[in-house]
Amino acid sequence: MSDSRTVSVDGIELTVVIQRKRVKNLNARLHGTTVKLSVPYHATREEVERAIPELARTLLRRARASRVNREEDAFALARKVAARFPRPPEVRGVAFVTTQRSRWGSYSSATGTIRLNAVLRQMPRWVLEAVVAHELAHAVHLGHSDSFWALVRRVCPGTDRANAFLEGVSWLAGSWQRLPPVERALLVPTPGEEDPV
Ligand SMILES: [Zn+2]
Repeated sequence: MSDSRTVSVDGIELTVVIQRKRVKNLNARLHGTTVKLSVPYHATREEVERAIPELARTLLRRARASRVNREEDAFALARKVAARFPRPPEVRGVAFVTTQRSRWGSYSSATGTIRLNAVLRQMPRWVLEAVVAHELAHAVHLGHSDSFWALVRRVCPGTDRANAFLEGVSWLAGSWQRLPPVERALLVPTPGEEDPV
């Protein structure tokens, strides 16, 4: 029998799937945003409930050990970018979220909050900077007019390069399943050969 629930760790929603198994100890694994928890038959429900938040946090932190951009860094960056605007938009908070699958970010001038796709944590800082500039510029221009892009490039000169980077990421994400195995293999390093000379 298995049951599931969601926990929120550092602003990331995780689904916890609990399975009773013949194991000695609680055993947790992270697959994407799902925590698979194997629980020994003798463990009580309270023991399991008590262990979940800490286990989820540990797994997530471990998975993110190599992350580049932390929330507080993104916040500091966003305030810096905002200050470059002729009329600086107010930035009161930055949150990485997993609920914006098809977009890189959004900005609410009502709350002063920038919401960023959690994937951006792992991307170079100059890409994050361009997304922040883009979203903040929408507080001035709604659409993607010439004046919108002129403003974005003014507050973030690396914008065109970052857009090309993000287009490549989107292309790969959308094409990965359709790529023939040979081409796919060319894109990932062979284990043990990560540092070709
Ligand atoms: Zn836009």
